[in-house]
Amino acid sequence: MNYYERAKKYRAKKRLGQNFLTDSKCIETILDVSDIKKDDVVVEIGPGLGFVTEQLVKLAKKVYAIEIDEDMVNELYKIDADNLEIIHADILKTDISKFGNNLKVVANIPYYITSPIIAHLLGEADDLDNKNRKSLSQIVLTVQYEVAKRLTANEKSPSKEFGLLSILAQFWSDIEFVQKVPARSFFPAPKVDSAIVKMILKDKPLLELTNYPFFRKVIKACFATRRKNIKNSLINAGFARNSVEKTLKELSINENIRGETLSIIQMGELSERLKDNL
Ligand code: SAH
Repeated sequence: MNYYERAKKYRAKKRLGQNFLTDSKCIETILDVSDIKKDDVVVEIGPGLGFVTEQLVKLAKKVYAIEIDEDMVNELYKIDADNLEIIHADILKTDISKFGNNLKVVANIPYYITSPIIAHLLGEADDLDNKNRKSLSQIVLTVQYEVAKRLTANEKSPSKEFGLLSILAQFWSDIEFVQKVPARSFFPAPKVDSAIVKMILKDKPLLELTNYPFFRKVIKACFATRRKNIKNSLINAGFARNSVEKTLKELSINENIRGETLSIIQMGELSERLKDNL
């Protein structure tokens, strides 16, 4: 029986974001880019009916599959593999670090909680000691196409793509857009296309800063009021007008540009200088 026929037998629960990947080529791509070695410990998020899981167990030393839905869990138990541990839990309440170090995450994640899952895996920009992130070496995610675009965007990308999610992903990982996955590759087909992204976690954050919580405030300000210029965005966020004016001048940043036209590196410089000028 092919994936489509297997998936069709279930009543997918919309509220749990159940769209099963039934395109065997896409499943192969996910496995290829995940590059699982026989010593690897894999954490799969939202394994569903286990189409990816049943391949992962053949490649990895151990697979932890975290699934919230009891019906799916019962299906997963049919996979005959000693190295599979099925965990019936909510990923957002699961401490991943307890599964070991250098973990590889594979996740075709439920789209209703995409951003919370990414934040759960990475932590915020000032979350230097985030336990989950520190236990990971790699994440292969299948997300909505639009989210994949945002995760991989920079200041030159079409407007609205570059934002806090881009910074978060790139602050903690080298991220690569792997491939678009059309909606018809899933059953039931979601309304939008998806895409696979691969993140290789960094040992240190992208920027070395003296004050990470301050940087977090600055980036939030840069993106908070997208129609305002950078000067007003920063003032609006509560930074003193004269410090903002002085800082922009010192860095030769035109005060009329919008915050989202600065690169991550420039935002880091802005943060450091503004902190000194307050
Ligand atoms: N990975 C599978 C299924 C994708 S559908 C495939 O590619 O075919 C998303 C899966 O995530 C569903 O099985 C759903 O039950 C599960 N899920 C939804 N919310 C979850 C949560 N909070 N924690 C863990 N799993 C969750």
